[in-house]
Amino acid sequence: MAQRAPLLLKVSGEALKASGDSILQAEMVDRVCGEIIAGASAEQPVAVVVGGGNIMRGASLAGGTEYPAVGDYMGMLATLINALALRDGIRRQGGSSEVVAAHAIPNVAHRYERDQVMRWLEAGTIVVFGGGTGHPFFTTDTTAALRGAEIGAAAVLKGSSVDGVYSADPRKDASATRFDHLSFDQAVAGRYAIMDQTAFALCRERHLPIRVFDMTEAGAITAALGDNPPGTLISD
Ligand code: UDP
Repeated sequence: MAQRAPLLLKVSGEALKASGDSILQAEMVDRVCGEIIAGASAEQPVAVVVGGGNIMRGASLAGGTEYPAVGDYMGMLATLINALALRDGIRRQGGSSEVVAAHAIPNVAHRYERDQVMRWLEAGTIVVFGGGTGHPFFTTDTTAALRGAEIGAAAVLKGSSVDGVYSADPRKDASATRFDHLSFDQAVAGRYAIMDQTAFALCRERHLPIRVFDMTEAGAITAALGDNPPGTLISD
């Protein structure tokens, strides 16, 4: 079977921790990695962008550093800790994985080089993008849109704690309904919060579909990488 375009999975840092004080929970890391391995195949390459919110978000230091970007650099370093955890979890479970970032860090991350990334993806290696865009004032959602566009991803799979996009907040409004599909224009008109605005704008401009799904549910990541993915699709 011909190889499909890669899927770009966005894993937020929160997905790697359970409640409590630990920043990384081994069972959570193993579950996420196991599901990624199960969803990837020779026909379906998978790349991952991981966040750092379980460890550090730049905004949490707002005003408390020499200049505003310092907290963001810390946040980007946090994503690299998570990227290493994912690489380790994937390798321990028999998969192949490499960490790629804007800048090389020996033993931690390769420098982003598109040809090399595409060769890894074609060979079935799960490429984990850590370190965000490498620039402050962005998020890992924007990194997902950017790397997704660069590698020609079929879609950005945005793991969330809700199972899609609703007409209203389902936790507050019992009449809220879930959309299976929205156009980018409908998502803008409805002011539905899908990704941060920079990320959303980039996906829209590059015609890169976004799928929002509940990644906290067991099996959901594998399903999102499969033929009948759950959640809401936002596309042209
Ligand atoms: N960050 C950044 N530039 C980027 C990506 C991330 O400065 O391109 C910083 C930012 O401070 C952010 C933190 O890294 O708060 C962690 O990323 P994010 O909040 O997106 O993680 P998530 O919420 O997905 O776990």
